Amino acid sequence: MTHPSRKTPISLEFFPPKTPDGVAKLAAARRELYALKPEFCSVTYGAGGSTQEGTLQTVRDILAEGVDAAPHFSCVGASRDSIRAKLREFDAAGVRRLVALRGDLPSGFGAGALGEFRYASDLVAFIRAETGRRFHIEVGAYPEMHPQARTPSDDLKAFATKVRAGADSAITQMFFNSDAYFRFVDEAHALGVDIPIVPGIMPITNASGIIRFADNCGTEIPRWIRLRLQGFGDDVESIRAFGLDVVTDLVDQLTTAGVPGLHFYTMNQAGPTLEICRRLGL
Ligand code: FAD
Repeated sequence: MTHPSRKTPISLEFFPPKTPDGVAKLAAARRELYALKPEFCSVTYGAGGSTQEGTLQTVRDILAEGVDAAPHFSCVGASRDSIRAKLREFDAAGVRRLVALRGDLPSGFGAGALGEFRYASDLVAFIRAETGRRFHIEVGAYPEMHPQARTPSDDLKAFATKVRAGADSAITQMFFNSDAYFRFVDEAHALGVDIPIVPGIMPITNASGIIRFADNCGTEIPRWIRLRLQGFGDDVESIRAFGLDVVTDLVDQLTTAGVPGLHFYTMNQAGPTLEICRRLGL
């Protein structure tokens, strides 16, 4: 199953480590992952505020390594002034690419705490109005529907609105069913969306973690995959081996169909992403 000629652009996602040991481990993982020559690396952002400084520091570290880096940037709970200040900070740090999101309110906060921006499309429009074409703007996309949307069609229209507000490209929520992605892309094209919609790829390394995360974000884990993962119990080696096979097959289908890129949710680990790419000659 190797396709050495494939040239699908790759991007990598990290989260900001909380401890010095985590910082050192991530730096080591990045050194290995740079063998994939990523187009950029993105760094997640805690909508609740806990990791916002960590995001910018990790972005600075990546930029200093000569790799393009994009902070995730959410507007939930923010004011126009606070977003304006953050954009200035990003600009001064040399950031040229952002992943613009609404984010989620931490539990316990009511809708009144939403701030001055209601949707990511408001944030995208604001960034464009304030900074013109200074930043390349990535947005989120949901092939299996965002969990708070009323219907898939409403969610798709909201996605098209976000793109019209000025997004340059999109990264999807993780999925394990390529049909959901292909249909979403077809339907987005039918609505006039012509930006790249890059699949977000989550390597499977842990059964309970992936099942919990999928349930929270509205991603379906096909029944046969879920049952096998559960059947392995505490057998971590079998889970990792099966997870690698499943996600490699998914990425193989996607690259064979000519997707515009692959965005790996690395979870700050080099091994699984490197192994999937090695198997496929990416
Ligand atoms: P939006 O695009 O604003 O959509 C949110 C909801 O509002 C959807 O249900 C949509 O259908 C609806 N909607 C949007 N516009 C309209 C409208 N005009 N009218 C009616 N309904 C509308 N979260 C973090 O906290 N930190 C991160 O770093 C982070 N990184 C992410 C990276 C990716 C690639 C993805 C896909 C998600 C990420 N998230 C992150 C999660 C994200 O913050 C949540 O999914 C959040 O609930 C929605 O953010 P959004 O930008 O997609 O919102």
